[in-house]
Amino acid sequence: MTKGNPEVTWPGSVIGVDVGGSKILARFVDPDTGAARGRVKKNTPTDGPLSVIDCIVNTVEGLAGWQEAAAIGVGVPGPVTPDGTAGPCPNIVGWDEPVQLAAALADRFDKPVVVSNDVNCGAIAEHRIGSGRGHADMLAIFVGTGVGGGLILDNKLVVGERGMVGEIGHLTVDPGGRPCGCGGFGHLETYAGRAGIDNEMRRRTKGDANRYLLSLVGDSQLKSRHIAAGLEAGDELSAQLIDEAADALARVIGNAATLLDLPLVVLGGGIVDRLGEPFLDQIRTSDHFGGAGADFTELVLARRLDDAGAVGAAFLVVDPI
Ligand SMILES: [Zn+2]
Repeated sequence: MTKGNPEVTWPGSVIGVDVGGSKILARFVDPDTGAARGRVKKNTPTDGPLSVIDCIVNTVEGLAGWQEAAAIGVGVPGPVTPDGTAGPCPNIVGWDEPVQLAAALADRFDKPVVVSNDVNCGAIAEHRIGSGRGHADMLAIFVGTGVGGGLILDNKLVVGERGMVGEIGHLTVDPGGRPCGCGGFGHLETYAGRAGIDNEMRRRTKGDANRYLLSLVGDSQLKSRHIAAGLEAGDELSAQLIDEAADALARVIGNAATLLDLPLVVLGGGIVDRLGEPFLDQIRTSDHFGGAGADFTELVLARRLDDAGAVGAAFLVVDPI
């Protein structure tokens, strides 16, 4: 036992780790309630997965009393197969190949380690203690630079053999439409993700600094607050881009709800958090929200839980996939 710090005497706690493109965060988490204590954060290395593994170890070992954790859960920004093989992680420079992350970390910590995709960690956190609480079946959609999803059926996260279930950002909403970072065309995230909206805004404004939205963004990256300011000012292009984002989300949600008989879709991140209920209304009332889900599926905002990635990773330790 270490000296008198209540964090380290927390019974039955596990450690949740959120590995992001820029930071690695570790916290003690009570796996029953999701309450988190202690916090260590380090910069994510950019010279490949072996350095990331070292950094995860250092981050966890920075939590006083880490040895007393029963197990460790880790969320990473890439596909994770059920055996804990993770990657490639395009947001982490140098992590271009899958690595056996769970096995490597279990070896280093001499403890059970469960590795999951970070979006799935966010989805499970919403399911256990957020807006999805009490629902056996739900889809979580997080809109950020791209668009990710996590599917929970019968209270279990569904991952798939390759760990690719929930890759909703790359569903086609418009064949031959906007070019996607994955090499495809017309995928959801090119309409609803920040990067896709930014690209389209630049294409339509053609560098004309008199266009309101471009004048707000300039040479920096488009942010949700720029779009929100554009809407507030009555800017036509901002309204068009948001209409198209809502229609694209409506199309995908309608199809997913029809396929899976989904009672609940939880939406969060980026423009969803910024625009809130009015944006959800726009999705609900879009002509593109068709199929059997339109009258049945409820759309709700995510709870925006603190450190959802780390908390969700901890939940997945006690209730692995
Ligand atoms: Zn794509």
